[in-house]
Amino acid sequence: MNVTKPRMARDRKNVDTPLRCPICEGALVNTVIRDIGGVTADIIWQMHAGECPEHGWFQAEIVSRPPREIFPVDRPFGIARRMEIDGEEIFSFPTVWNFEPPQAARQRVDPFEPRFWRVQRSLRR
Ligand SMILES: [Zn+2]
Repeated sequence: MNVTKPRMARDRKNVDTPLRCPICEGALVNTVIRDIGGVTADIIWQMHAGECPEHGWFQAEIVSRPPREIFPVDRPFGIARRMEIDGEEIFSFPTVWNFEPPQAARQRVDPFEPRFWRVQRSLRR
């Protein structure tokens, strides 16, 4: 009989991540990757978090695909943090991946491909 053991969330610290600061695009420090694990082995389910020395903590979730949004948070895996940029309230930063056409989004992609993690600066390309 094949018994599947429940997988525990596992944190790896100070690791490489494609996650960048969505404001200055700088590399993050104190990075953490939490492996949540999928219901099946071929699902990659992770949370990535890191701190920009200037702009604070951010995190993103991947479920076998690059993240659609990067969220400002108060600490890794903490609660959402309210940000204001040029007088506008920002709750999340949509990534390039979020704007991929559906047929591209259905293809198998490397969820860690950094270009998809970049913040989409404008809806016009
Ligand atoms: Zn920054």
